[in-house]
Amino acid sequence: MAWRSSGATNAALIANLEQNGLIDTDRVKQAMLKVDRAHYAPSMPYDDSPQPIGHRATISAPHMHANACKSLLEYLSPGSRVLDIGSGSGYLTAVLANLVGPTGSVIGVDHIQPLVTLAETNMRKSEDGRRMLDSGQVRFIKADGRKGWKEGAPYDAIHVGAAAAEHHEELTEQLKAPGRLFVPVAEGWAQHIYVVEKDADGKVHKEKLYGVQYVPLTDAPAD
Ligand code: SAH
Repeated sequence: MAWRSSGATNAALIANLEQNGLIDTDRVKQAMLKVDRAHYAPSMPYDDSPQPIGHRATISAPHMHANACKSLLEYLSPGSRVLDIGSGSGYLTAVLANLVGPTGSVIGVDHIQPLVTLAETNMRKSEDGRRMLDSGQVRFIKADGRKGWKEGAPYDAIHVGAAAAEHHEELTEQLKAPGRLFVPVAEGWAQHIYVVEKDADGKVHKEKLYGVQYVPLTDAPAD
């Protein structure tokens, strides 16, 4: 069903995602319309499928990006602070920045320097992207995302774009109260999305959602 959402243009892809129920809010639709996926995906940018971006990484499928935004949406308001771990192509980082801008900020973290550079280069292809980088609204940082990014904490929302081998408690610690974490977690051969909610009293609740297939959250490759 997801694959049927492919289109000939960015607008057509997003219209099809909406028609198939994969985008169901105007906020997510507008945020995705503002980012041309062709600036981030090297091939078949308007297909609803993941695409390789080098370094064993992939840009996730548009319906997964839409899903992640949907899951975190309550915590993505103008002014929110967001951490995007495993930022890869930078596409979702840009969409998240649209959802929290102009007063909010997003930090994209990847552990492969060429991908950190790629995300910045991709964002600089549009005027909006250049403005968000130059103003500091969006920053890309090379770091091990399993530890989060303490320097920017606490966050309203944390998105993890690679499958964690365990629940990394440091990520939950870096959430505001209230705040929400979206993270794929590997359990044996299977991976599931978990939404981890920290309530206003600091109490943490983990909810296991659907099965997925993400690139693993790993040690950095030797340089
Ligand atoms: N959201 C990105 C997904 C990229 S694939 C996109 O749609 O473009 C997952 C990314 O996680 C890869 O770029 C990979 O380099 C990164 N990654 C894997 N392990 C990591 C770690 N320990 N710390 C930070 N990034 C990591």
